[in-house]
Order: sequence, then C-alpha cells, then structure tokens
Amino acid sequence: MSALKRYTFHFIVGSQDLYGEEVLRAVDAHAKEMTDSFNADKSIPCTVVYRRAVRNSDEIYKAMTDAENDPDCAGVITWMHTFSPSKMWIRGFQALKKPLLHVNTQYNRDIPWDTIDMDFMNLNQSAHGDREHGFLCARMRLRRKVICGWWRDEAFRGRMAGWMRAAVGAFESRGLRVLRISDNMRNVAVTEGDKVEACIKFGWQIDHYGVGDIVRLVDNVTEKEVDAQLAAYEKHYDIETENISAVRYQARLEAALKKFMESERFSAFHTNFEDLQQLSQLPGLAVQDLMRQGYGFAAEGDWKTAALCRVMKAMTADTGHGTSFMEDYTYHFEPSCGLNMGAHMLEICPSISCERPKIKVFPLGIGNREDPARLTFKAKQGDAVLASIVDMGDRFRMIVNDIVCIEQKHDMPKLPVAAALWKPLPNLETSAEAWIYAGGAHHSVLSYDLTDSEMRDFAEIMGIEYIHIGKDTNINDLRKELFWNDIAEKIKC
Ligand code: MN
Repeated sequence: MSALKRYTFHFIVGSQDLYGEEVLRAVDAHAKEMTDSFNADKSIPCTVVYRRAVRNSDEIYKAMTDAENDPDCAGVITWMHTFSPSKMWIRGFQALKKPLLHVNTQYNRDIPWDTIDMDFMNLNQSAHGDREHGFLCARMRLRRKVICGWWRDEAFRGRMAGWMRAAVGAFESRGLRVLRISDNMRNVAVTEGDKVEACIKFGWQIDHYGVGDIVRLVDNVTEKEVDAQLAAYEKHYDIETENISAVRYQARLEAALKKFMESERFSAFHTNFEDLQQLSQLPGLAVQDLMRQGYGFAAEGDWKTAALCRVMKAMTADTGHGTSFMEDYTYHFEPSCGLNMGAHMLEICPSISCERPKIKVFPLGIGNREDPARLTFKAKQGDAVLASIVDMGDRFRMIVNDIVCIEQKHDMPKLPVAAALWKPLPNLETSAEAWIYAGGAHHSVLSYDLTDSEMRDFAEIMGIEYIHIGKDTNINDLRKELFWNDIAEKIKC
C-alpha cells in the first residue's frame, strides 16, 4: 500500500431536501462512483471517504465534526452536486479546522443536448450550487483551495492529488517534534525565529537537548549495534575508505540518534558544529543516512529548515525521488548559463543522488574534530524546487524557487562532498536578486517531487505568506508584492 493511503479525505457532497429521495439517491450513487474511481487511481495518493449527501445544517455539522474527529483525516473535500443553501454550512465550517478543498465539478462531462430537461438540470447544477458554496467560503474568509474541472480528467486529478500532498504536509506539521541538538550558530540571524509562534502556526514542538545528553546516548551504543548499522551502510553505499573506525563512529552516532528520536517521537533534528563537546566527529554520514530514511534535518541550529525538510519528505513519502537539506554555496557566472552550486559541509541527503553514493573520510577544517565520514555523490538532473521559511518578526514567509538541476560534468576531485548544480528560474541573476530581496535563507530544502503548486497550497493551509520565484518573475513586480504584503500584514495586526 502506498505510504500516503493511510491519510483520509472526507468527501462531503451537499444537497437539500427540496428535490426528493430519487435525486438524493442519484447524488449518493454518483458520489460513490467518483469516490471508488479516485481510490482505484494510482495518481491519487490518499484515501477518499464518502458517506452520504448532506441535506441540512445538522448533517453538515455532523459531517464536519466527524472529519475533525477522525484521527486519520487530513482534510475535507466539498462539492455541491445540487444546490445546497449555504447558510446551512456556517455551523459546520465554524467547527472545521482541517484543510478544505472545494471541487467544482460535474458528474457528466457533456450536456446531453437531445434529452436535457428540468429534471436533469435539478440534479446536475454544480455550476450554480458551487457558486453559492463559494460565496459563503469567501464571506467566511475560509482558507481553501478551489479546483474546477471534470472529475475524470487527468489534470483535475493531478491538481487534487497535489492539494492532498499539501494537506498531508499540514497533517505532519501539526504533530511534528523537532530535536534541537545545541542552540543556534552564534550571531547567525536567518536560522533564528520565534518557536512559540512556530508551534501556534505550524504545530512544531521544538525541544532542545544539550550535546552532553547526546554524548551519553552515543557512549551507550553497543558494538553489536554498530555492526548492524555498518551492514546497513554496506547495503546502500560503497565504502571507499581504509578508515573504517571513522565510519564506525558515524554508525554509532546514527544508532544513538535514531534510538532516541524513535523513543521520543522526533522526526526532524539539527546539529551545530560550533558545539560538539565530546563528540569526536561532526555527524555527517549518520545525518545523511537518517535523512534517507525520512528524517528532516538542517545544520547550525536551523530548526525551521529541519522541520520543513521533514514536512516535504512526508508530503512525498510514496514517491521518494529525492528531497534534501541544501545550501547555496557557489555561483558559476558563465554568460547566459548562470548556475548555482549547492552543497554543505557534509549533510546532503542521498535520496537526491544520481549514483550509488560512496562513503569517504576526509579532514574537515570546520568544527575542530576528527576527520568525519560522509557520503559523496552528484545530485541527479531534473526539475526541482528550493524552499525556505524565514521569520519576518511579525509573520513567517515561505520562499520557493523553481530550478532545473543539471548534469555535473566535472568531477571536482578536491571537493569531497555531495553537491547539486542547478539553473534557477528565470535566470541566476533575477532568481538570486528575488531570493535576497525576499530574505530567503542560505539554507533551504531541495525537492524533485514537489512544485510551486503543492508548496503554495501548503502555505495557504498553514496561513503563511508565500513568495514564488519562477519563469515569470519580474523583480519590480516582486518588490511591489513584498511591499504590499508588508502593508497587508500591518493592517491585519
Ligand atoms: Mn549551513
């Protein structure tokens, strides 16, 4: 079963008593057929649940509270097959906190020109029923997604699937625990932020542990556990070093961190190379292998990027093409082919590798510890996004840039870390200027599995500001958007 099938979406189809039992039976039959079809479609990642058409305020309230109380329910999908007077929906919507998708579709694709009569019109009137519904959602200022299209169309389903992924991200976010190992890197601004506000807005529970706590856990790992971890490394990676004891130390780190995070239900974490205390190496290979298994990570105390990394991995747990912590490192200013190279000291996730990663050991100038074992590889080619969340003081802002990762033709023998090379859209200069005007961090999450659409839906669900940098970005327009967003925020406060 696909990893996202455990998440349910309640399909709540509106009607009213006015039309009689026969119409309601048809509405139920159609909605059931649609639900079965969605659930049989591999492109729909989650499970759709349908019960029966709702006809009045009490039934709507009950359907909404059922969705709220279903622990597996990640969102609600509404559709008005017939007209459903929307004052009946107010009480239900007031009880709804979960993400809302309003689909404006129709059971039949075509108008039956030769047979259409008033009975047909009464049954198939989402064209106006969904407008009544849309007005109420707008009037109540509900955060929502609206998708119009025929329900069997691939494009419609693709958009619905994308929104579901965003809702799964929100579900994951609401229960996310982030393990802080040490604090923020000294004097760095962008990795800071308001953890209380992050808990209110995203649901992230961000807890600090001293490095001493982790050192004790590392010391308690047995040689047998290290052997088992080493065998796991051999399964996924080629060991290309004589320094096996350095690799064993990373295995020890990983075993300790994994056991602790599992027992405390942490699914994202950060380290800080300035504060390693008695740890003999900066966690490198250990962090990379934990990211491969779905843990979110960021370096230098950056809990926001660590949490975002986990959320984006959860949104795509069924595809697993590649999502990693990333850092903008170095530019390549070749005329008309500007590129950005991303890497980190060590910690890039092997899920984005285009080859079988190699375990190597090299000195690391930063951190002042023993030479750390790490995975080296080249990231694969393909369309991807970079996402960053920053704390603007009065709100969180998400910045997403569309990028195209390209083939790395050079071996860079003196750079022993994993790296990605990309062409940012619309081009290096505009992308970088836009990112910098928006205050985007040097840390980000790179994903080949997500696009602007899912990230935008996620930001909408979480109620945070969203800035997109893509092929149509124009710097002057973007600067105006940032200025207007600031004014809007001030008016809201
Ligand atoms: Mn960094």
